[in-house]
Amino acid sequence: MSNRFNDNWKSQTRLVHGGTLRSAFGETSEALFLTQGFVYDSAEAAEARFKGEEPGFIYSRYANPTVDMFEQRMCALEGAEDARATASGMAAVSAALMCSLKAGDHVIGARALFGSCRWLIETLMPRYGIETTLVDGADLEAWERAIRPNTRLFFLESPTNPTLEVCDIAAVAALANSIGARLVVDNVFATPLLQKPLELGAHVVVYSATKHIDGQGRCLGGVVLSDKEWIDENLHDYFRHTGPSLSPFNAWTLLKGLETLPLRVRQQMESAARVADYLAEHPKVARVIYPGRKDHPQADIVARQMKGGSTLISVDLKGGKEAAFAFSSALDIVGISNNLGDAKSLITHPATTTHKNLSEEARAEAGIFGGTLRLSIGLEDADDLLEDIDQALRKV
Ligand SMILES: *Cc1c(COP(=O)(O)O)cnc(C)c1O
Repeated sequence: MSNRFNDNWKSQTRLVHGGTLRSAFGETSEALFLTQGFVYDSAEAAEARFKGEEPGFIYSRYANPTVDMFEQRMCALEGAEDARATASGMAAVSAALMCSLKAGDHVIGARALFGSCRWLIETLMPRYGIETTLVDGADLEAWERAIRPNTRLFFLESPTNPTLEVCDIAAVAALANSIGARLVVDNVFATPLLQKPLELGAHVVVYSATKHIDGQGRCLGGVVLSDKEWIDENLHDYFRHTGPSLSPFNAWTLLKGLETLPLRVRQQMESAARVADYLAEHPKVARVIYPGRKDHPQADIVARQMKGGSTLISVDLKGGKEAAFAFSSALDIVGISNNLGDAKSLITHPATTTHKNLSEEARAEAGIFGGTLRLSIGLEDADDLLEDIDQALRKV
């Protein structure tokens, strides 16, 4: 087995070759090691491997060569020392948050979170005696005011779902450092290409690989990345013994996804910028939030911490829910789906789907109204998408 890695490789090269474990057959594509376990040459060899005296795989819940390739390639992309791949994005978020916490600790989260992430913080953690506070992530003083003597962890998403607001990651990381807490960033909406939370000072990064990393609507996956010490001390045992492990088959699919990630994200972002500009000028549109536009509420932070505007657009239609429903249902190419980051363009109405469990008050606080839609731009020709959006808006 040889592990292909070179520190001098640029990002695109790492995404094609990084972490490849080539077997004795010299295969071109990454091998799919669809196996639960591994056999040892002798009882002595098994003993040595369990003692950690000899390298090698033991059981696919702990580690697997195909999953290992995916983890190593993600490390090379993210600039992280170590990673653990998980069966879904939520397995990554819950492992990253729970593995270092105990009863009596305090967590501060930015309020605008993916629904399941918010449930973890608001509902699950308090059941285990973990205190939690949700704040407006864009308000630095709110983070500071929420700090308690037992605050151990900060958690945020940026850009947020579904309104695409942006938090100042470097400033929140500095605040966490000042009290010895750790900052975990869910970087799904930015993708690993447009924002590097570890470089900005965050301690842990999590992804739902289900989104842009697969990007072709096939399988669920996730990954947690950090420095080796944090993973060894917090995640290593938690991961082995709770078993959120990624299937080798899905790891193989995600590895193939990484090869084309920059091409897809660049193309989808280019089209998203055009669609956002088109929507912003339309008389039936009340407001567009797109991180690539100068009128984004935190345009200065976007310029500092992101390399592009993302592949997602948040749009508010005049006429509330009725207009939003009429528009979505009239779309032909763009599908109605709560997924995102896919090659196929997708639209969702957060108030009645992903964020239906929030009270109307909490939704308003998060900037989600009856007319709010989240649009994920895919790989279709942008002219076709604009035509589809235009004909659907005419039916509103
Ligand atoms: C989708 C998503 C998740 C959860 O990922 P799954 O793969 O669906 O479990 C978490 N955070 C964000 C921001 C997401 O978009």
